[in-house]
Amino acid sequence: MDENFRDLIAIQQLHATQKLAQQVAQSNSKGKPCPYCGGDAIPNYERCKNCASPLSWVEDHPCKPGEEKRLTQSLAEARVLKEAQEKRLRKKTKWVAVFLLLIVGLPLVSFAIVKFVIVRGIQSDIAAKVEALKSSESEGAEGATPSAGKSKSKDD
Ligand SMILES: [Zn+2]
Repeated sequence: MDENFRDLIAIQQLHATQKLAQQVAQSNSKGKPCPYCGGDAIPNYERCKNCASPLSWVEDHPCKPGEEKRLTQSLAEARVLKEAQEKRLRKKTKWVAVFLLLIVGLPLVSFAIVKFVIVRGIQSDIAAKVEALKSSESEGAEGATPSAGKSKSKDD
């Protein structure tokens, strides 16, 4: 029973810390909201300009007096969370880059190899045909030379 009660208090404290961490995260992007009315709080003022509630400050973040310790804890937690998120994002980005490189790079490389092989095949085919043509031409020329000489001798 006593243990359950302690657990309940621990859970409540955790929720309060998480709520504060959320507030801190939000206040990082848009001003510093008063913990009572949510209006803009002027840094290091002891009272909110909107609702005149007493304020305490931890690292430019307003809180209710007595919550300084929890806010400090929340700020540290928020930083750890942010770092972990950034780390995860960096890791994710790295893997996406590797994946994209594989997706784009592999077809390009295989296309280049296939193209090279095909072009080489065509080139050697052409070379063989040219060679065959040349040899048949030279044979034809050898056969034609004597006849040309004969026709020349006839003219004389
Ligand atoms: Zn206020």
